[in-house]
Amino acid sequence: MYIDLSTIYAFMFASLAVSGALTFWERRFHPLRKDVLAEWALAYAAFTLGCALLIFAIIPTPYQRAPAFLLNLFGYVALLDGVLRLNGRALPLRLRWASLPFAGLCFALFPHLSYETWSLFCSAAIAPICGAATVTLLRGCSFSALRSRKPAVLVFGFHAIFYAARVTLFLASGLMGESLASFPEFFTALAKITMFEGVLFAIAAPMLLLSLVREEGEARILEASNTDYLTGLPNRRALFDRSVRRIQEARSDGASVSVMVFDLDHFKLINDTHGHQTGDDVLKLFAGILDRELRSSDLAARFGGEEFVVLLTGQTREETRELAQRIARAFAVEAARFDGLAINATVSVGLVHCVDADRGFETLLAEADAALYRAKALGRNRVEQAPGLAAVA
Ligand code: GH3
Ligand code: MG
Ligand code: MG
Repeated sequence: MYIDLSTIYAFMFASLAVSGALTFWERRFHPLRKDVLAEWALAYAAFTLGCALLIFAIIPTPYQRAPAFLLNLFGYVALLDGVLRLNGRALPLRLRWASLPFAGLCFALFPHLSYETWSLFCSAAIAPICGAATVTLLRGCSFSALRSRKPAVLVFGFHAIFYAARVTLFLASGLMGESLASFPEFFTALAKITMFEGVLFAIAAPMLLLSLVREEGEARILEASNTDYLTGLPNRRALFDRSVRRIQEARSDGASVSVMVFDLDHFKLINDTHGHQTGDDVLKLFAGILDRELRSSDLAARFGGEEFVVLLTGQTREETRELAQRIARAFAVEAARFDGLAINATVSVGLVHCVDADRGFETLLAEADAALYRAKALGRNRVEQAPGLAAVA
């Protein structure tokens, strides 16, 4: 099969231009990642322009090499910066300014350097930049749950290794005092392989980077659908989803399971007395206390309105009861101090403790709820345990 270099260049030019346009268009749908997508679109525009310089001979040889090299370098740095930003960091500004004297140096040198030296420069720049992008994709905690992370690591990793191999080849030939150009067949084959790999990268990288942003958006929506907007706690849906797995784990570990249902007392009165906004703040205050008092392995959720549910595993009955009392006391004290309003807020708690995790979540919840009703009936501001157990005021 005969493939000529200019066809590959033209194909690469077209696919980069399309990727740039699509990435730019995608900004509309990911407002939180607008900057990253714009940066990547700019990277593809720089690659496209670099390709155009080489294909259309806008600037005569060898003068097109320095601008093409700089555009390429700018493109790769922008790709890396986008990946870093996606992971919550960005390249330091100093590094960007450092590119100015570097660009000056390139222009001063460009007429004097051979094609091979330029290739060595290019490869020596591309390999570490793509290596850094690979490591970020591999290690970055923002990517760990995204499906496209592994293929993206493969694509960037392969590109980095490919260019590192080119550096080695150019350096080895230089050390042996042999120019690769003196082996024309090998030289042409290498150029074709490089271009071919470049085309694959130009197709795969934009596709995968776009997928990362889309998957991150999906994950954010999923997280939002499982989170209570006001308090930031998991919501009822998340509680039911997650509790099944927690109870199964507790059952296989032989650990106990406890469920507590909290219902703020006379909450309607708090709203009526202090206003709905203060009512919201009191709900947030209670959620904050749960967050503070519970271990990260405990599951706490806003069940609805002014009701909260907690699922604990591996705690004794005594520990569970003490924890419920501690939360109730902290709430009463902190609400009384809240914003100088001296809010008289208390909470009633129903709890159930199950030693061998032999009941399903819904059964446990119903038992804890029955205990909560008793706590309300017995005067509120108290912790009641499921039937058969003594009440603790
Ligand atoms: P009890 O001690 O019997 O539980 O009385 P209560 O007033 O707490 O219970 P009730 O069910 O009568 O009222 C619950 C109130 O909680 C009514 C509702 O307006 C309020 N509420 C529910 N969700 C929110 C919310 O998101 N923000 C605010 N501020 N109030 C809420
Ligand atoms: Mg209620
Ligand atoms: Mg209530």
